[in-house]
Amino acid sequence: MALVQHFINGVETGEPERTGPVFNPATGTRQHDVVYASVADVEQAIAAAKAALPAWRATSLIKRADVFFRLRHLLRERTPELAAIVTSEHGKVLSDAAGEISRGLENVEFASGLVHLLKGERSEQVSRGVDVHSVKQPVGVVGAITPFNFPVMVPLWMVASAIACGNTVVLKPSEKDPSASLFLAKLFQEAGLPDGVLNVVNGDKLAVDTILDSPDVAAVSFVGSTPIAQSIYRRASDNGKRVQALGGAKNHMVVMPDADIDAAADAAVSAAYGSAGERCMAVSVLVAVGDVADDLVEAVRSRMGTLVIGDGTDSASEMGPLITREHRDKVASYVTGAAAEGASVIVDGTEKQFDNDGFFVGVSLLDHVTTEMKAYQDEIFGPVLSVVRVDSYEAAVALINANRFGNGVAIFTRDGGTARQFEFEVEVGMVGVNVPIPVPVGAYSFGGWKDSLFGDSHIYGPESVHFYTRTKVVTTRWPDPSESQVDLGFPSNH
Ligand code: NAD
Repeated sequence: MALVQHFINGVETGEPERTGPVFNPATGTRQHDVVYASVADVEQAIAAAKAALPAWRATSLIKRADVFFRLRHLLRERTPELAAIVTSEHGKVLSDAAGEISRGLENVEFASGLVHLLKGERSEQVSRGVDVHSVKQPVGVVGAITPFNFPVMVPLWMVASAIACGNTVVLKPSEKDPSASLFLAKLFQEAGLPDGVLNVVNGDKLAVDTILDSPDVAAVSFVGSTPIAQSIYRRASDNGKRVQALGGAKNHMVVMPDADIDAAADAAVSAAYGSAGERCMAVSVLVAVGDVADDLVEAVRSRMGTLVIGDGTDSASEMGPLITREHRDKVASYVTGAAAEGASVIVDGTEKQFDNDGFFVGVSLLDHVTTEMKAYQDEIFGPVLSVVRVDSYEAAVALINANRFGNGVAIFTRDGGTARQFEFEVEVGMVGVNVPIPVPVGAYSFGGWKDSLFGDSHIYGPESVHFYTRTKVVTTRWPDPSESQVDLGFPSNH
């Protein structure tokens, strides 16, 4: 069985003492194993990152930017190869895998502007003959821990900005689809990144805990499910680290009575079932306001039958399998349990038959879902769309604001005033107006509210520069020695 190893100090390494399986979700076959890091492996990666730090932070900004310009070129050139890796381990269709690479590329493009991003501030004459300026310096070694669902984009959310800001990184990708991170690390190396600046360790909780407990790691970026995000936030901050831990989601899409039903249904189907619902910004709750509900449910239902579900390498496929057999079965259990809880199962995707052992499930639509039902409360993370019917705009906002998650939300309406009011009062970090998956472009930052993010900083974009740097403020005077005198008073600028 082929082994996926670590990438430490520019070299692939790793003893197969502990390993885990990596499946091809479209066939259900175990295609290779991944090495799970020991404490010593992770410590070796952290030591490599620590050793590479002084030279990397001393590298001129222009030379650092050069790496990102070259990386951008390489990533574009090698997109088909990388997309094939993503599809073979994650299952999403090739076009979707290429889409995630393109969104990750935005973070590389943002990082290539680092000469501008790292500008400090300067104030002349804050007191007589005294100037002040600030500089942004790297925090040190950064731990980056990523989920299975975006094996290229989410690592790039973190490592592009962290490295641009002069830090060195230990990346721990998901053990379910680890190969894309190794490919990325080698691409960074080809782009001229010195060895040790980006290290990849594969593994499980042991690897993560070693990162969280290491005194040599200054900051931790995490993206994954809410329970793990919360525990990572606690453990890393207890250890005195800077932490941002992005968690799960339950994203609502409100459809107002004045919305174009066909456009709303197209958007809902695309955002609910794209990538088999395994996106943190997937729409999982459709909030039908007033008398729009019956027509909307019918418009969504009518679009579901023609969706092509199959192997992601087949260009006809629009949706691939789920990540594991266990996850597929868990997703299916929400659909089979929904009727018992009182929901109407309009389309039951669990009934769909597939002629191979891949981790496939069909698309499901549940209607008359209420807030007490498990299908509403949990993040299902699969191709299941729940419709909640409400009487008014106010009830829609109250529903969303009472939800414990606050990652993404969308409103479909033709009324600018309603959209503006929604933006003003909805308690969610990312809002779409007639845009179902409002993932901000790379020049802005990404982050949810409430249980969708633990910590202060959103990820990538301008907030990442803040997260991955420490500000130093320097006060300067060039006095005339002849005016010098002893003065025990506290310096005042008035
Ligand atoms: P996960 O929480 O199971 O795993 C994420 C990472 O944490 C992996 O690297 C995993 O190895 C590690 N991990 C798992 N259990 C751990 C433990 N007990 N201790 C320490 N580390 C542990 O998440 P996943 O299933 O890989 O990804 C799906 C989840 O990620 C969904 O909840 C999704 O909403 C969320 N997600 C959120 C965002 C966002 O931006 N908010 C983006 C993508 C995914």
